[in-house]
Amino acid sequence: MAVIPFVMIYLIPAVSAAALAILMWQHRYYRGGRPFTLLLVAIAWWNACHALSIADTTFEGTLFWSLLQNVGIVLIGPCWLLIALAYSGEWWRVPRWIRRGIFVPELVALVLALTNNLHYLWWSTVEADTSRPFLWLSVTRGPAFWFHSIYAYVCLAIGILVLARASWQSPPVHRYHARLMLTAALIPAIGNVVFLSGVKMPWNDDPTPVLLFISAAVGIYTTMRYRLFDLAPLAEQEVIASLPDGLIILDSRGLVAEINQHAPRLLGISSERWIGRPLAQLVVNSPFGRDLQLLLTTTVTASTRPTIFDNGTQAIEVRIRPLQTATGITTGTLLLIRDVSERIRAEQERISHIAALRLINAIARSANTAQETGSLLDTIARMIVQDGQWERVSIGLIGESQTTITVVVDHTTHGIGSLQGQVIDGNAAVSLIRRIERDQPSFIYLTELNAEDPLAEGLRREGLQSLLLVPLRHEHYATGILGLATNAPKTMTPTLEKLATAIGELITDAIVRIRLYEEVKRADRLKTGFLAMVSHELRTPLTSIIGYTDMLRRGVLGELSPEVQETLGYMKQASLNLMRLINDILEFSRMEAGQLSMEVEPVNVEAIIQNVVGQMLPQAHERNLTLKTNLLPNTPRIVANAGRLEQVLINLISNAIKFNRPNGLIEISVEPRGEWLRIKVSDTGIGIAPADQERIFEEFQRVRSPNGKREQGIGLGLAICRRLITYMGGRIGVESTPGEGSTFFCDLPTVAASRMVGKHADA
Ligand code: ADP
Repeated sequence: MAVIPFVMIYLIPAVSAAALAILMWQHRYYRGGRPFTLLLVAIAWWNACHALSIADTTFEGTLFWSLLQNVGIVLIGPCWLLIALAYSGEWWRVPRWIRRGIFVPELVALVLALTNNLHYLWWSTVEADTSRPFLWLSVTRGPAFWFHSIYAYVCLAIGILVLARASWQSPPVHRYHARLMLTAALIPAIGNVVFLSGVKMPWNDDPTPVLLFISAAVGIYTTMRYRLFDLAPLAEQEVIASLPDGLIILDSRGLVAEINQHAPRLLGISSERWIGRPLAQLVVNSPFGRDLQLLLTTTVTASTRPTIFDNGTQAIEVRIRPLQTATGITTGTLLLIRDVSERIRAEQERISHIAALRLINAIARSANTAQETGSLLDTIARMIVQDGQWERVSIGLIGESQTTITVVVDHTTHGIGSLQGQVIDGNAAVSLIRRIERDQPSFIYLTELNAEDPLAEGLRREGLQSLLLVPLRHEHYATGILGLATNAPKTMTPTLEKLATAIGELITDAIVRIRLYEEVKRADRLKTGFLAMVSHELRTPLTSIIGYTDMLRRGVLGELSPEVQETLGYMKQASLNLMRLINDILEFSRMEAGQLSMEVEPVNVEAIIQNVVGQMLPQAHERNLTLKTNLLPNTPRIVANAGRLEQVLINLISNAIKFNRPNGLIEISVEPRGEWLRIKVSDTGIGIAPADQERIFEEFQRVRSPNGKREQGIGLGLAICRRLITYMGGRIGVESTPGEGSTFFCDLPTVAASRMVGKHADA
């Protein structure tokens, strides 16, 4: 019965450990739950067997229980290691086969312990020890025992190291319980070392099982104290770890309280220790260090906008928020860091795309409207330099002999470059022209050129690094070259190649178009000159014919028979018609040659109309037509050239006579329309189909009349009228219903309107 207190010393921890094991088993799915349960079972087992070995009074019995307690003993070391891994957050980094495999050496040791009487490798001698209040064994430990002990201590030591590291570095949730677990681990370790080194308990027995129980109890306390079985902190931890963004929590003094693994990576620093250190110091070596330090000194509110830091290769967005209690006291700061490099690059690319499109658009516009190559190329070069991507833009055109290149423009950011006007010839020109015929836009880099290359020398002198050569080709025919140079080495990208090709094509097309345009203009000038010359040469003899015909008719050369008189009358009419045609042609050629000039002044429309009608009445009567006017009492005066307006009206009235029906009517009327006065010439003739109404104002355009009758004329009258009216600032047009008649109208500005415009201009 004297052994009962000693039995109790081990039995109570055994029962308690078993109870805790059951509790732990219920939480086995949480972190470290399974190894912890196993550890508690092992402790319970060890304590129980120890208690039984004390309780048993026979030698065999004591030996039996003493050996059996090894089942528990061998599990302790590996279990501790696994718990340490779990509680330090390292569990998932260790492969599963290692987590299982660490038990194997101990199981081998266990087999050797249980079969000791076959080989005595565990205990080489076993004797009864009666020095204690209960029957005990005095043993000599064998190699298997020492192997097990060393292995168990190695496991324990690794576990302690892992926990120690975690207690130093981990985020708080891991850190605090890692520290307590470390304490728990150290209790039996120190006790056991003390025992093995010879220090005995008062009752002369191994205290390890009891110490282990105490340590397990501390472990359980830690678990409960830090609510490790609560899901929330664990989940928070998981969420923080799995955030794609970097997260840093600072306390009110700016010390790091929490940080996830992305934050250091995004900040570009790898400091070993973060927790508890001031962030402002930690980021000194970060590429964003200065920006961050500045940001940390600013007062942040919940509405502080995200800030973007861009160091050229990487861009991060930092959101900073104060952490406040319900009562509004700021207890810390939350920093969320996101990698926005992709977004920023995409944005920059978008901007440069838009800039490229703008440039192309601007070049296209000037290319489409340009009429002269030199000024067009000058404008384009200036636009490209102003765009800011290139320091120097040169355009060379190939001479007709295909052996020289003339640098037509050479623009730099400082003005005209030294190459402008220079002519490249000889081998340099020929090899460049070959290149233009074959190549796509390509870069030439200063670093890749031969030192003696004249191009290299030129680039070096101008401080340029890379030169993009864009061939200007029209249907495989080399027309010139565009050179874009920068003083920083640039590389070819698909976008740049497309841009360069597009600009090259625009320039080439414009050059070709301008050349064609110039050729057409030259041909046109030749035509106009020819027409003017011919008409002039025709007019002179025609004037003589008309003069002599008049002389004959007046009987200057003798009395004429009525038949001859009539024939001469026809001759004169035909000559006059011919004269009018020639005059039209001459007038038109003068207009084409830009020789039209006239003065405009306030004129009285009524007088002009009366005058014209007076002139045209005989012709109208000749064709049995009625010609009448319908004027207003106070017709406003208009701004025009009286002579030219008369010419237009005569033309319109003679058309109205020509294209009228027999016994038809011609009416001249006026209609005020706001600031304009409309003069209308209406007839009751054949009319004009809607499709032809615009066309007839173009030169040499005539409409075949429905009855197939061909009237005199070559289609210049209305073209001349339109030019004259437009020149006077007015507008001419027609409204017509085929078969019923036409109304030609001229809108001209009234004097009042022109004064207002004048006043406007003065203002
Ligand atoms: P031309 O009279 O010398 O042929 P115009 O330029 O004066 O040249 O007229 C062009 C064409 O317009 C005429 O050939 C005719 O077909 C049509 N046209 C002009 N005036 C009238 C009109 N009053 N009625 C019908 N057709 C007309």
